[in-house]
Amino acid sequence: MSEKTGYVVVFGCKRCGKCKNICPVDAIYEENELSKIDTEKCTLCMKCIDECTNRAIIYME
Ligand code: SF4
Ligand code: SF4
Repeated sequence: MSEKTGYVVVFGCKRCGKCKNICPVDAIYEENELSKIDTEKCTLCMKCIDECTNRAIIYME
């Protein structure tokens, strides 16, 4: 497995729920109706960033 660098974080979620369905490893969960990323599961595929039209998911190095 290649080494991961960075994280994807949710900032300003509008609670539309779209990102949760796109994640191939089920790393997105809800907490108080806001989406959160499980960084242990996340493979940094970036699919959720494309999916979030509210631009609430950000990649941070
Ligand atoms: S797609 Fe974006 S706005 Fe919608 S639930 Fe996910 S993080 Fe929130
Ligand atoms: S970057 Fe990929 S693996 Fe990580 S939370 Fe988003 S969709 Fe899931």
